[in-house]
Amino acid sequence: MTTVNAFAADTAGGKLKPFKYELPELGSDQVDIKVHYCGICHSDLSMLNNEWGMTQYPFVPGHEVVGEVVSIGSEVKNLKTGDFVGVGWNSSSCMHCDQCMGGNHHLCNTVEGTIVGRHGGFADTVRSHWSWAIPLPEGIDLQKAGPLLCGGITVFSPIILAGVKPTAKVGVIGIGGLGHMALKL
Ligand SMILES: [Zn+2]
Ligand SMILES: [Zn+2]
Repeated sequence: MTTVNAFAADTAGGKLKPFKYELPELGSDQVDIKVHYCGICHSDLSMLNNEWGMTQYPFVPGHEVVGEVVSIGSEVKNLKTGDFVGVGWNSSSCMHCDQCMGGNHHLCNTVEGTIVGRHGGFADTVRSHWSWAIPLPEGIDLQKAGPLLCGGITVFSPIILAGVKPTAKVGVIGIGGLGHMALKL
């Protein structure tokens, strides 16, 4: 058992307060990550305020997690302790449905949100399936990497899916949290 020190809200719109919880034994395909930094996204606020009717309290926000792998299960691939990884909106999926096998894990029927029905990254530790703990490139500024895991991928994905070429002109509507990263990309 691992005791996690986190910040949680007790009610919709509540203040974040220190909160401890226990993680059960690590699953064979899971990793525990020591959180170094965590971004804040508007979806954290929407979840905190239960705007989508799916928040469970106490609620620990945080789905732009950057940290170091400190424990790995026996079946974990692609990661070892000491690796720096990021975890975004999702933290697990089944790994055997058509979507998971086709590389569209985020469309899995059983995909697990990092802050949906479980606790997120405003904490000293966060747990993830290994495939959702994304290895970070060496030399990346860990303090700034967090938003790439949510807002960043949200704007990067359509650029790839639309087959945008280097010669293309791309319009970005709304230069906010996502839009400014689209501009950078
Ligand atoms: Zn987000
Ligand atoms: Zn799946």
